[in-house]
Amino acid sequence: SKFVVGLTGGIGSGKTTVANLFAEEGVDLVDADIVAREVVAKGSKGLEAIIANFGPEVLTEAGELDRAQLRQRVFSDEQQRQWLNQLLHPMIRQEMLSQVENATSDYVIMVVPLLFENGLDRLVNRTLVVDISPELQISRTVKRDNVDATQVNNIINSQCSRSDKLARADDIIDNQGEISTLKQEVQALHQRYLQLSGNHDA
Ligand code: ATP
Repeated sequence: SKFVVGLTGGIGSGKTTVANLFAEEGVDLVDADIVAREVVAKGSKGLEAIIANFGPEVLTEAGELDRAQLRQRVFSDEQQRQWLNQLLHPMIRQEMLSQVENATSDYVIMVVPLLFENGLDRLVNRTLVVDISPELQISRTVKRDNVDATQVNNIINSQCSRSDKLARADDIIDNQGEISTLKQEVQALHQRYLQLSGNHDA
């Protein structure tokens, strides 16, 4: 089986940026956000099941999943929310594992925003946390998404805390500095993971 590094970090910490730097080193990525969209894509079994349960009201004109509509439907209905999670979580997990097995690089980076919150750290051999201060999380996210600081702060408070993440991390990558520094940190970790994946195969 493949050696898998689970990459996580809070909103705006730099997960995508770090993942892309690993990809530049030739490492295959499996991205939980992309997989979560794939399992409910037009024509998928996941979307069929959602339509059967919620009705065609949760579709857009184009026949795609209307995420905002679905979110509203499960927002005040705990039972439906549970039904949806019980449908999607196993599908997402299975698809992520299948993408890992189809990867051809020496090891795989699995990008999972809520790695610890959703217990997906159980699927990986090692965890890597991208770390920045809440102040930087807010300023970088506000700049990127043009949202207000309060919104970002609410999301930060809904996620596993910085200290919790750091306590659970096998490796930590500091993203408070320049991208050039980050690139060096990634290159060092890449060498380490190549070593670890070699030992893992043996
Ligand atoms: P989310 O969880 O919200 O999807 P993320 O963890 O994937 O976010 P990124 O999108 O990689 O985070 O980074 C957040 C923003 O900060 C982006 O606009 C990115 O370009 C910028 N950024 C990342 N690292 C740095 C850095 N070292 N210096 C300056 N800006 C950075």
